[in-house]
Amino acid sequence: MKRRIGWLLAALLIAFIFSFGGCANQGFSGDQSSSANVSSHYYSDSVNSGLQGGESDGEGYPVFDFSTIPEYLTSAVYVVNGNQPYFLPDEYTTQSYEYYTPLDDFGRCGKAVACIGQDIMPEGERESISSVIPTGWHIYYDAQGNKQNFYERAHLIAFQLAGENANPLNLISGTFTLNSLMQEYEEEVAAYVKATDNHVLYRVTPIFEYDNLLASGVLMEALSMEDGGEGICFNVYIYNVQPDYEIDYATGYFEISEDALENYATYVLNTNSKKFHYPDCSSVLDMKQSNKVYTTKTREEIVKDGYSPCGKCKP
Ligand SMILES: [Zn+2]
Repeated sequence: MKRRIGWLLAALLIAFIFSFGGCANQGFSGDQSSSANVSSHYYSDSVNSGLQGGESDGEGYPVFDFSTIPEYLTSAVYVVNGNQPYFLPDEYTTQSYEYYTPLDDFGRCGKAVACIGQDIMPEGERESISSVIPTGWHIYYDAQGNKQNFYERAHLIAFQLAGENANPLNLISGTFTLNSLMQEYEEEVAAYVKATDNHVLYRVTPIFEYDNLLASGVLMEALSMEDGGEGICFNVYIYNVQPDYEIDYATGYFEISEDALENYATYVLNTNSKKFHYPDCSSVLDMKQSNKVYTTKTREEIVKDGYSPCGKCKP
């Protein structure tokens, strides 16, 4: 009973701290910002957030609305809700815990929530996670015919924060860009908890639109408890994108984008004349769009495919 009252006091104290305007730290490295948005439900209907019926809908508080996330242009981080996380006061706690949403009917992860404290941070080494195949996972073969992974297994709650290894409820298919950007925020949280022995309320929500098998991105929210967000406070959306690639989020299939191909192409094929050219050959400009194919293949491969070199640029 005594213990319980202690927690209650701690919760009241934390609620009191936050009643003075939420978190103070606005300084995270995001570069775009949106104003607070309020809608009647926590996540829009087209999004699998892992939120099931019966949970708080955040009435009276600002909530996440995926439709306010702009199309990805150049920055893969978008600051949401003025960098203020959407945690409700009754979620505040200084007791460490972890929660992972069960996989949905498509095998997809939902939100992962934790209160990060030193007592749940790992002491041992990270173990292999390659046994988990998250939805949208795809491999490809490189020019040497070796099997390569396009995606990384991205932890929703990082190993360094809660010590989860091959937990299928905590791993999504993520691009290198997504995973490395998430890591910057994870390291901030880990360093803060290690230095202060405080707790950080932490939630990572993968955003799957419609029936897509690949997440469009993740919402990362964090708030340090004992100091009212003074140490850690952020709310960011990270796009699951990779420069130079076009990704089909329904399946996870990907291909090099047209722009990248033009930039990186070794040769240009004319599928009609069966000639191949250097990309800067003047004949490329005259070529009919429907016959023109940019390629990154080697000369040998192209010749093997039945193409012969252009007489003008002599590739
Ligand atoms: Zn040519």
